[in-house]
Amino acid sequence: MAEQNKEKWYVAGLAFECQQSGNCCSGEPGHVWVTKAEIAAIAKYLGIDDGWLPKKYLRRVGLRYSLTEHAGGDCIFLQRNNGESGCTGCRIHEVKPTQCRTWPFWDTNLKTPEYWNEAAKGCPGINRGSTHTFVQIEEIRLKKAPS
Ligand code: SF4
Repeated sequence: MAEQNKEKWYVAGLAFECQQSGNCCSGEPGHVWVTKAEIAAIAKYLGIDDGWLPKKYLRRVGLRYSLTEHAGGDCIFLQRNNGESGCTGCRIHEVKPTQCRTWPFWDTNLKTPEYWNEAAKGCPGINRGSTHTFVQIEEIRLKKAPS
């Protein structure tokens, strides 16, 4: 681990605290990758008996599966609350996929400080709030975010 620490620019930790902007669940069309186990967990959470998500929620992309999104790019499970707080939420928060759980500690964001700060432009939670230690970041990163 010590040798690994020397190689990483974020050894001192990084601040992140979700501000519920919903930005990581919306925007330009993209993919929210889900494994078969995650699909089954989401289906169960939604009370869908056959253990699989209908086309409304799920699409096949090559050999993989992705959640669907609305025309504007919002994830199908993103709930916007335009009330006082303007907060957003995830309808399947308790069982949301690894891709969502590991944001923003993805390999693509952690390559360099420049990539990290680029991600911060679209995510108001990056560089804000409590500091995640190097060990915490690596535990999250290694859960395997998209690269
Ligand atoms: S599943 Fe939930 S956390 Fe993941 S992109 Fe969709 S709304 Fe966001």
